[in-house]
Amino acid sequence: MKSKILIIEDSPSFAKYLSDLFSDEYDVTISNEVEHGLVTAATLIPDLILLDIVMPGIDGYSACARLKKADTTRDIPVIFISSLGETQSQTKGLQAGAIDYIVKPINDEIVKAKVRNHIEMRQYFNQIENMSLIDPLTGIGNRRLFQERMDAEIRRMSRSGLPLALFMIDIDYFKQYNDSLGHLEGDKCLKSVATAISDSLKRGGDIVTRFGGEEFAVIAPEVPAEAGKAMAEKIRACVENLRIPHPKSSAAQVVTVSVGGTIHMPGSHFDVCDLIQKADEALYKAKSSGRNRSFMIA
Ligand code: GH3
Ligand code: MG
Ligand code: MG
Ligand code: MG
Repeated sequence: MKSKILIIEDSPSFAKYLSDLFSDEYDVTISNEVEHGLVTAATLIPDLILLDIVMPGIDGYSACARLKKADTTRDIPVIFISSLGETQSQTKGLQAGAIDYIVKPINDEIVKAKVRNHIEMRQYFNQIENMSLIDPLTGIGNRRLFQERMDAEIRRMSRSGLPLALFMIDIDYFKQYNDSLGHLEGDKCLKSVATAISDSLKRGGDIVTRFGGEEFAVIAPEVPAEAGKAMAEKIRACVENLRIPHPKSSAAQVVTVSVGGTIHMPGSHFDVCDLIQKADEALYKAKSSGRNRSFMIA
């Protein structure tokens, strides 16, 4: 897939000139008006923005500052292209958050090379950012993603007024599994369990993360109270249905999990820790009542 470049430039002829430079290698979108350009940036999420400075209405500096203020556009690299060549103008542009400043008249090859370098740098940064949120063994989100997602869901919930469910999942007698079959088999088992739970989640907003060791957490926004129990049971069953033989489990002949869940209804004050603590309590109940069970606490 081609990277996307957005050109915000009031002169249609110069915008066209720039577009022709890049259209072979990139998907180029032109906006000849600033407000329109800002809206386009937020919906298109281009990989890079080429921004003019002198334009009717809002100037490029303010436009850049607005891009850098909004969550959706903050990370998009902005390059100013302007005929304003004085040190002061350039400094102001870079201080507004632009990654680079190119003075007209432009040199085609230099502009192309700079754009390519900045896009590559951005892609590399995105890759590292994604890696830092993924658990390398299982390929699902890690504890950091869990924390980010919970914070985001709690903020969203206070606006939407819809309930939020959290399920903690713990593999039963996993120490014995490792002890009898070895840690490499244990690792394989963890991968299979993570994939099974992930596949069992049907709605786009649901997510499973590896909370730690042999424990997983499922975050499910907008789950009505009656559906919580069914969801916990579905998660439990999807692991049992993998039918991975467990030679040393006292709960079953196959690998199983215990699931503890809680649903928070909007209205009362709470934080992430409260929710984790409740789901943990539920998990403890599921464990102490025999394992391979699911249990909910309101
Ligand atoms: P319970 O039914 O009470 O949950 O018992 P358990 O044996 O599952 O719980 P315990 O906390 O005693 O043991 C957890 C085990 O999970 C011990 C640890 O070696 C194993 N484990 C944690 N992370 C990994 C991992 O990345 N790979 C492998 N193979 N094992 C892991
Ligand atoms: Mg202009
Ligand atoms: Mg455990
Ligand atoms: Mg366990």
